[in-house]
Amino acid sequence: MSQIRCDVVSVERTVFSDDVDMVLAPGIEGQLGILPHHASLMTALAPGELIIRQAGKEDVHLVVGGGFMEVRPDRVTVLADAAERAEEIDLARAEAARQRAELRLRERAPGVDLARAENALRRSQVRLKAGRHFRGGRSSAGSGRVEGLGGDGQ
Ligand code: ATP
Repeated sequence: MSQIRCDVVSVERTVFSDDVDMVLAPGIEGQLGILPHHASLMTALAPGELIIRQAGKEDVHLVVGGGFMEVRPDRVTVLADAAERAEEIDLARAEAARQRAELRLRERAPGVDLARAENALRRSQVRLKAGRHFRGGRSSAGSGRVEGLGGDGQ
């Protein structure tokens, strides 16, 4: 069966590298499904969940803080601002980041970079959702269900 090479690299490390069957990525204009032999493209990624599917294995769920994705027919390369596996997410840290960002956005103190705070809020929301989903949803592993992460803070 045909596969596509997938490399997910953050500034700190290679988070994932293997041949895969499908990649679902949070493109800035919506979720993108990448299969082997996909047309070449380059796109920015939003903070969100990146799901990697390999036959006979559990889906790999990564959270990316944003970044870029290059697709070629035989290869997907994700250069992420930050990336971690759902099981690596520290929920307390993400909750603290969410509260910090919300406070900054509420107070709008002079000198605060609101766009930066909004991005931090989005990252924390995605981490909370993916981290909670991972902890609560292991029994449904392998079902193939993909839950959208819309940044609604749930
Ligand atoms: P914080 O304020 O908690 O650092 P942040 O959104 O500013 O959050 P990032 O800049 O997105 O953090 O990520 C920095 C590094 O820390 C990355 O390697 C990322 O994978 C990791 N990271 C950030 N938050 C978490 C978390 N809640 N659990 C696990 N790893 C995290």
